[in-house]
Amino acid sequence: MMKLVIALMLGLALGLPANAGTLTEQDLTTARELRERALECDGGFEIVADLTRRIGPRMAGTEADARAVEWAVELLQEIGFDRVWLEPVTFNTWHREFERVTVSAPGVAEQELVTLALGFTPATPAGGIEAELVMFDDLAALEAAAPEDVEGRVVFIRNRMERSRDGSGYGPAVQARSRGPQVASEKGALAMLIRSIGTSTNRFAHTGMTRFDTASRAIPAVAISNPDADQLERIFSLGGPVSVQVEVGAEYTEPYTSHNVIAEITGAESPEKIVALGAHLDSWDVGTGAIDDGAGIAIITEAARLILDLDERPRRSIQVIYFAAEEIGLLGGRAWAEKHHENFENYQLGAESDFGAGPVYEIAARVADEAWPVIEAIQRELEPLGIELGGREASGGPDFIPSLPYGLAVVDLKQDGTEYFDYHHTENDTLDKIDPEDLAQNAAAYAVLAWLAAQSPIDFGSGPQLIEELQ
Ligand SMILES: [Zn+2]
Repeated sequence: MMKLVIALMLGLALGLPANAGTLTEQDLTTARELRERALECDGGFEIVADLTRRIGPRMAGTEADARAVEWAVELLQEIGFDRVWLEPVTFNTWHREFERVTVSAPGVAEQELVTLALGFTPATPAGGIEAELVMFDDLAALEAAAPEDVEGRVVFIRNRMERSRDGSGYGPAVQARSRGPQVASEKGALAMLIRSIGTSTNRFAHTGMTRFDTASRAIPAVAISNPDADQLERIFSLGGPVSVQVEVGAEYTEPYTSHNVIAEITGAESPEKIVALGAHLDSWDVGTGAIDDGAGIAIITEAARLILDLDERPRRSIQVIYFAAEEIGLLGGRAWAEKHHENFENYQLGAESDFGAGPVYEIAARVADEAWPVIEAIQRELEPLGIELGGREASGGPDFIPSLPYGLAVVDLKQDGTEYFDYHHTENDTLDKIDPEDLAQNAAAYAVLAWLAAQSPIDFGSGPQLIEELQ
């Protein structure tokens, strides 16, 4: 017994792992210091304030996209990262000119709805499209409809997104936006309206992407605000025919090359091994992209800045990755996966912050079995921030999804998204929606995660074998 006590004391004194295969007391002490410092700092809020003030909306492929990349390089160099570099991402571009949707019905005054065209939908022919409007409860109802009930008409899908802390209402609801226009097109519809995929009751619309197969005919598709969707349902409830006039101005523009912006804190012992924190630099063309995803840019940058401020360098390298063109199809994330997957054995973890600025409440991780105790140890240091231990299912965030088939180990720091979808992809995504204290809690969580992942004596298991292991 005495021998064991002496051995334990010696272990502590020498800074050896405090419990089998995990982190040293010194590493844990530093993690606690990072956590406390992050909570006292407003450096993250300053970053997102500067991005939204000086660049504003920065849709992929616009002039503002280029300015955002310049802003990012300047910021990351100024903070003092050891290396800052760009990796090209080339894609087709689109821009919105205008949208105008007017509804009329017998005995109902003609009225204009508040709308936003969906990304990459085509313009209407000159003079717009005028047709009968046909309403469906959801995408499944549209899929089940006979083509003769759709052909030559404009389709309206009325399904409503449910509010929840984890944002789980988004996945089922967003099908109407991502697949609805193509299904409507295949059945011969002329255009499509969807109820906004968002939880706000304010009168603005939520835009977002939709997709058409190369073989199918693209049709103009427009999101209408939640109150306007309610109004449309009330007009339908009168029972008479409803007609609609849709005008969209939009343009497909030249292919454009933007950049993933990457900055590194080079590791002191194993610089080739990398902990990767992500966020996306692009935004939609409306609002100022404060919560989506200026907040994520601020959170990961502030976390890394606090680590750079330490007297010592982490054992492994820590990279922050500002992904390009997330909103229009995870294009920066796809380019990054293609470029780096052959080196995934060296990547420890990917974790992207892209869910606004609500506080983190849970850590979940997709890692090798032997690394799970390290995740548990990290969670114990996150506990004072109100962060619980979740399960072993994680995506790492949208831009790391293209890396999952190559076996990248990933962590989700799950944020409270109760209000996120009130603002998501709207004119109302602006800086005032960010609570500086919540933002600091996020930065604290990412700083603890990045530091301890960089110090962990155990690798997290990235690489093709992780796929088999977790099957
Ligand atoms: Zn986003």
